[in-house]
Amino acid sequence: MLMNEYGLTKNEISKKLNSLLSLDETFTSGKIIGSMCTEPDSYSKYIYSKFLEKNIGDPGLFKGTLLLEKQIIHQLGKLLFYPRCSGFVVSGGTEANIMSMWSARNYSNQKHPEVLIPSHSHHSFDKAADLLGIKLVKIPCLDGIVDCNSLEKRINQNTIMIVGVAGTTPLGLIDPIPELSDIARDNSILLHIDASFGGFIIPFLKDSNYDLPLYSFKFPGVTSISLDSHKMGSAPIPSSCILFRNKNLIRDIKINVGYLSGGNEPRPTLLGTSPGASIISLWTLLNFHGQLGYRKTAVRCMNNTNYLYNELLKIPNITIINKPTLNIVGFKINYNHRLIVKALRQKGWSISIFPTHIRFVSMPHINRKHVDNFLKDLKILIKNHSK
Ligand code: PLP
Repeated sequence: MLMNEYGLTKNEISKKLNSLLSLDETFTSGKIIGSMCTEPDSYSKYIYSKFLEKNIGDPGLFKGTLLLEKQIIHQLGKLLFYPRCSGFVVSGGTEANIMSMWSARNYSNQKHPEVLIPSHSHHSFDKAADLLGIKLVKIPCLDGIVDCNSLEKRINQNTIMIVGVAGTTPLGLIDPIPELSDIARDNSILLHIDASFGGFIIPFLKDSNYDLPLYSFKFPGVTSISLDSHKMGSAPIPSSCILFRNKNLIRDIKINVGYLSGGNEPRPTLLGTSPGASIISLWTLLNFHGQLGYRKTAVRCMNNTNYLYNELLKIPNITIINKPTLNIVGFKINYNHRLIVKALRQKGWSISIFPTHIRFVSMPHINRKHVDNFLKDLKILIKNHSK
């Protein structure tokens, strides 16, 4: 389609946008039950829309935005027991994980670098390994979390880093971070925690007396952490954070850009021009809702998840893969699984499909009624297809 010679009217634009965007699914429908993203908080959307011109890719021009970023990193560092950490607001878990691998490679200066990752890890590590020429060694899992014995056996002189995940992509489980921390320390290698999903829920559930394994800088072997604010943080996309225990870890991935109009402020993030609005809206969210707001959201999501889990237990012909650790339940249907999943999709349920199961993620946009609607459709389909 060619661009028009003359612009369209606002009315025409509205019509065209409404027509095409009606094809998009919406979080408010309550039918997106497989995504790790959610409807952003309305106040943070408003704030985001007010600061679209801010470009943190030229940080010297936007010194106030830079200060807000420093405050975010300090607040998150405090939440994770290391307020002195360094860090950045980035575009997502993928950018954060690539930065963890990039910094590890340059810091270690190893000729044939290898990184050990659990087999359930997110594909952003595959992208990073391919881009950076790092060998990935995938470690088998037991009951959905990494097997530390197998992992330890794969460490050799080329190993530069281990990855542990807090909130695994398939099931929302948490790898044994204390054990991984000991292994990293004993072998003098780095340990990155990918808390892209769990980052903005685990600390708040722990503070609400949930018995959960923690992921944080409290464990001395942990050298970096990624946590996505556009997942359980309810921030407008794109928004994620990466924290480093030690400034030296990022020293060798900073590139001087002398020509920037704000002056040379080396920044080790992957993107050049990037939205300062992500920083300003995230700062707003953290300070507007406070820990109590995040705790309430976390507990509400867990209540809906546990409700779903208990209702699924009552349905015959279902195998549940995990008792929820976080707000994710994985399950499969014992007969006609594929057929029923296809029919669920046809009924408008946007569910995630994994080779072994389907995944329901009870994000903040999901309420009890949505869960009930899903269960109703699921029960009918199971009944119809078991005849
Ligand atoms: N890490 C984990 C554990 C994830 O589940 C995801 C996305 O689902 C990512 C990283 C990548 O995050 P993003 O899609 O924001 O790049």
